[in-house]
Amino acid sequence: MALIDTHTHLDQDEFSEDRCQVIEEALGAGVSIMLAVGIGADSSLAVTELAAQNAAIFSAVGIQPNYCAEAKTEDWDRIIALISQPKVVAIGETGLDRHWDFTPFPIQQDFFDRHLRLSQETGLPFIVHTRESETDVLAMLRAARKRGPLAGVMHSFVGGQEVAAECLELGLYISFAGMVTFKKSAALRAVAQTIPDDRILIETDSPYLAPHPLRGNRNQPAYLRHTAECLAEERKTDFDTFCNLTSENARRLFRF
Ligand SMILES: [Zn+2]
Repeated sequence: MALIDTHTHLDQDEFSEDRCQVIEEALGAGVSIMLAVGIGADSSLAVTELAAQNAAIFSAVGIQPNYCAEAKTEDWDRIIALISQPKVVAIGETGLDRHWDFTPFPIQQDFFDRHLRLSQETGLPFIVHTRESETDVLAMLRAARKRGPLAGVMHSFVGGQEVAAECLELGLYISFAGMVTFKKSAALRAVAQTIPDDRILIETDSPYLAPHPLRGNRNQPAYLRHTAECLAEERKTDFDTFCNLTSENARRLFRF
């Protein structure tokens, strides 16, 4: 059994006191690969440095929608330059967010478009964050699909059946985080049940939203197992089989 955490923010301050231990605990819990995801130029540099120091860590570089307004002009060029670093396997996270008001929406759309084009130019898959903006995200994904094939993942998916179906049709993977384990998430679990075996991914999105029964704690990659157990049960699959298929999917998409 080898799990792959396809989305973690290991560079963030929540891990500054015990980062090495967190990584050790993840390895001890069967998490063999962690994808550390950048949210801005500094953060993207930090995740590439973590990847250089740790065999089990790979990185994704990009500017998360909520941080696009504060990005300096040169930050986008820094992201492009980082792509050639070893172990950079994805572009992101990117996307759209109507929940927070940190970045005017047209600026978010401009940056989402840049990330999607960069993915299509480089062949690196993209990682999508969407909050209260699924219609807008789908419209931009459809427009990008007209330019060429898409490779990417809807991260920490919380959408409904129709959104999932459209994302699958566009060629994307669907990734579930700790929220799917929460008691009130029955509808989301029902959606998770319907994702084809070759398109489902798992992640912690740590340090945020630890899965049940660890909810309320700082999340970390070692907790991925709880989300995997919940989904395996929901999909009536044996735990090891489910772990293996999600890891196979992660290796196919991110070419670890
Ligand atoms: Zn994230």
